[in-house]
Amino acid sequence: MLYESTRGRTRPVTVSEALKLGIAPDGGLFVPECLPVLSPDQLTGAAAADYQQRAARILELFLTDFSPGEISESVTRAYNAGKFDNPDVAPVRTVAPNLHFLELWHGPTYAFKDMALQILPYLLMKAVASTGETAEIVILVATSGDTGKAALEGFRDVTGTRIIVFFPAAGVSEIQRLQMVTQEGGNVHVVAVRGNFDDTQSGVKALFTDPSVNDALQQRGHRFSSANSINWGRLVPQIVYYFSAYLDLQDREAISPGQAVNFVVPTGNFGNILASFYARCMGLPVNRLICAANRNNVLTDFIRTGTYDRNRTFYRTISPSMDILISSNLERLLYELTGRNAPQVDRWMAELRETGRYQVDPRTREQVAHHFWSDFADEDETEAEIASTWQEHHYLIDTHTAVGKAVLNKYRAATGDHTPAIVVSTASPFKFNQAVARSLLGRDAVAGRNEFELLEALAAFTGLEIPSGLRDLDKKPVLHTRVVGKEEMKQVVLDILG
Ligand SMILES: *Cc1c(COP(=O)(O)O)cnc(C)c1O
Repeated sequence: MLYESTRGRTRPVTVSEALKLGIAPDGGLFVPECLPVLSPDQLTGAAAADYQQRAARILELFLTDFSPGEISESVTRAYNAGKFDNPDVAPVRTVAPNLHFLELWHGPTYAFKDMALQILPYLLMKAVASTGETAEIVILVATSGDTGKAALEGFRDVTGTRIIVFFPAAGVSEIQRLQMVTQEGGNVHVVAVRGNFDDTQSGVKALFTDPSVNDALQQRGHRFSSANSINWGRLVPQIVYYFSAYLDLQDREAISPGQAVNFVVPTGNFGNILASFYARCMGLPVNRLICAANRNNVLTDFIRTGTYDRNRTFYRTISPSMDILISSNLERLLYELTGRNAPQVDRWMAELRETGRYQVDPRTREQVAHHFWSDFADEDETEAEIASTWQEHHYLIDTHTAVGKAVLNKYRAATGDHTPAIVVSTASPFKFNQAVARSLLGRDAVAGRNEFELLEALAAFTGLEIPSGLRDLDKKPVLHTRVVGKEEMKQVVLDILG
């Protein structure tokens, strides 16, 4: 199976090349030239399998130049008890007959990015080796929080790689900062940048394309690569858990074989929900994909009107991992829904670059509405949802997941559709403890207390255990102390690799 670019101006490549390149040379995103389809028998046959076996089965369909041994080794190294604190890896919690939560936060950093970033390094290294590359791979990451830590955990001590993570010194939470600056591993480097996330991200983008930096790297036997969310290697592991959740519910007889479900996905960059769309195209019985947004509701407007318009106020919310105005992975959806019309996708993306908006044709708009439904939840609704889900179900959810649950309520009220719903739970409630504690304990109980005191307060109130990696974070030694200006980022990379 070859991979083609959504913009149609790159020759098709093998999956190994697609993983190594990350983004297509014409600026488009790589997609498989056709989507494999599973028969109902194939689907049922995987019911008894564990998460690793299910993952291998899905990955084999896409990673066609990997051997079965390479795939099973990658899966075993990524999804094991040393890395995930739940034996099911991605367990489904049923809180009411038609209401389930798919918990994607049992990995080392307590957010769903681990599901892909735990396995990506192994896939990437095998891809790199098979394309004859001998240089040491240097992963550069600019992060506003979750991705940086997940990438550090994924790449730590992976032979043949180094990872350098830049984060905005004043732009991440104290827990997120401590998670990164206490990172262990022989090949990891963490650098704070004086500035905001945009400064950090544009600095990293400039490094990727700076010929003098790339020349210097080549001479020292290094080569840049990227682990960002448009790499196909981030998407394909996300398809797995949609199948896995369905099979778990079927196993428990919560649904009958072939019965359709709805997935509710808290969305930012459109990666996670796109994986659910691919699962549906592959034969998973899905009725509706519900796209949940926060106040940065550019996707809700797009799904309702067919017009994507990023010219709007950007809000910093209590669900920060969804604070995004350009959802890069939407490009892959448009490619599928236009019948793989690359010139058309290319034109819309050019309009987005030049004017910040584009409008799809009526047929594509209809296709979008056929598969997706969307609404958003503001800050007050999000906090109220955390409290009511705790009161009604004795189940604690984080702010991102609460956006999903609040939007599910709106969907059910608007449509009367009570199809079994699986809400994708993207982070541990302890990771975003400030807003979660405020929702449960009230504003006064939270005022003046730091994040570690709030972890304790939340655990005391709910009887839940604080995840081990967060509990003693303030007592771990700080291993990374570099703080640089934006203009020093190039020099610091050369120093690190020197
Ligand atoms: C990244 C992230 C999201 C958004 O996922 P996308 O694939 O970007 O749509 C939602 N919740 C959490 C906790 C995340 O880290």
